[in-house]
Amino acid sequence: MTRMPDTANGKKTAIILGGGLGGLFTGAILAKNDYAVTIIEKNSSIGGGLQSFVRFGEIYDTGMHVIGGMQEGGNIRRLCEYLGVYDPTIFAEVQQNHADEIYIASDDMAYKIAAGRDGFLASMSRYFPSEHENLNRYLDAVYAIVDEMPLYHLREASENDFIHNEDFFLPADEFIAKYIQDPKLRGVISYLNLLYSGERNTTPAYTHAIITVLYLSGPCRFAGGSHRFADLLANVITDNDGTIILNEAVKFIHNEGRTIMCVETDRGRKLSADVYISDIDPNTLLDIFDDVTVFPKAFRSRIKDVPYTYSAFTINLKFHEKTFRYINHTGYYFEDYDSSWKMGEENTDWPLGFLYMTPPEVNQGKYTNKMIITIPMPWEYVRKWECTTLGQRTKDYQFWKKQCMDLVLDKLETIYPGIHYCIEAINTASPLTIRDYYGTKGGSMCGIQKDCKNITLSHLSTRTKVSNLFLTGQNVSLHGFCGVPLTAIRTCEDILGQHTILSKL
Ligand SMILES: Cc1cc2nc3c(=O)[nH]c(=O)nc-3n(C[C@H](O)[C@H](O)[C@H](O)COP(=O)(O)OP(=O)(O)OC[C@H]3O[C@@H](n4cnc5c(N)ncnc54)[C@H](O)[C@@H]3O)c2cc1C
Repeated sequence: MTRMPDTANGKKTAIILGGGLGGLFTGAILAKNDYAVTIIEKNSSIGGGLQSFVRFGEIYDTGMHVIGGMQEGGNIRRLCEYLGVYDPTIFAEVQQNHADEIYIASDDMAYKIAAGRDGFLASMSRYFPSEHENLNRYLDAVYAIVDEMPLYHLREASENDFIHNEDFFLPADEFIAKYIQDPKLRGVISYLNLLYSGERNTTPAYTHAIITVLYLSGPCRFAGGSHRFADLLANVITDNDGTIILNEAVKFIHNEGRTIMCVETDRGRKLSADVYISDIDPNTLLDIFDDVTVFPKAFRSRIKDVPYTYSAFTINLKFHEKTFRYINHTGYYFEDYDSSWKMGEENTDWPLGFLYMTPPEVNQGKYTNKMIITIPMPWEYVRKWECTTLGQRTKDYQFWKKQCMDLVLDKLETIYPGIHYCIEAINTASPLTIRDYYGTKGGSMCGIQKDCKNITLSHLSTRTKVSNLFLTGQNVSLHGFCGVPLTAIRTCEDILGQHTILSKL
């Protein structure tokens, strides 16, 4: 067995299972705090949701298109600055007075939404003047919820932080309806559902609130590919006696009672460390334990049965040179005002909505070469091919993918008439790709579904029954660029001691 790593320089050692967004942030924080970190990643490049790939000579991001919290003083930006990975050339701001555009097909209506609380209020009030006061109250309520989240403000929790106002645990749709009268405005306000896989009667108001505030305050996107940011985080680890192992999956976890002795990869390499941190899907984690009974039966059944958020179909377009103008806002297409709540349902009218954006280059010019379209899709749509893997997919699957692509491009044509003349090449990916690529159950976009009716069951603790195993990543708490880095702080403070990181930010 390898007692890792030889270069630890007398430091404590940590092994991280999975080099995604959570694994990288957790690893970088530990590396900054005298741990020699080894990340074991099954894919050929580091990053998970931060990975990009090259197709038709263009760089396409896989799972990180719209990000927030990056304004000056913003929480994620402060964490990046602490880690030394804030590089302004990596982040591109969106157009402040037109950050988002929501198109509702049934009304043939495009809503242009500005960034910032004031911008949001002004733009929504322009379309719904009679709701101005309600919008103000709604925004007060959204910000009040976020004020009750100490980690959002990078402050230590006090006893009062565990007492929440009555809005906090409401279903997000009920919360919106409590403040907003006009059904159309309720629908428009719900457009960010696509960013957190919001589901009616299930998603808690606090998820809606935190994502709304993060995107209102600091909406931006990666310039030149999100992999550049993954590389910066990886450098923090390798510059501090750490190691990144690629192309090796963790296949077994050898435990003796409540202690992990070592992990073993699919290449037969055995590695041990002082602490182990899992950034992989909790169902996979339980599957690879030697003696899984160390986890209580109730916990194992809960993980097995917990619902996950829906998956997505992705279309990557390559445009003929200088035929399509760069769009400096994120676009949302919905069939109707309440479509954003139906994305997880099987529906004969798929697609009911999607998100599209033109990813910026470092020196973005007037024209763009590409567009990424993310279309929510339930796993059920691909269930009949779930036993296939990449390279073995059948002809009927390829045919079905082409049909899906045509349906989406037809709808895109209503927003950008003639866009199909600009397209030079198209690449598509289904929920199967997401499952195989990230290793998430059902190709889920945001991991375990947070359920306001069952909050404790849909959140995981960063600590586990195994004394030297900790959890990180989207399944613990909030997903995405706004949530996973914050969870990484909690994971690291469980290892390093409470307040050790927050006091430095
Ligand atoms: C299509 C799509 C679009 C998205 N768009 C956005 C967006 O615009 N903005 C946003 O903020 N979020 C977005 N998300 C969500 C975001 O990508 C995730 O919330 C985030 O990546 C989760 O981070 P994580 O560390 O938990 O998991 P991941 O980033 O998925 O990392 C897990 C890593 O573990 C590796 N792994 C799995 N099993 C093993 C094993 N046995 N051994 C070794 N390695 C293993 C995987 O290869 C992966 O690299 C999107 C997700 C998808 C799927």
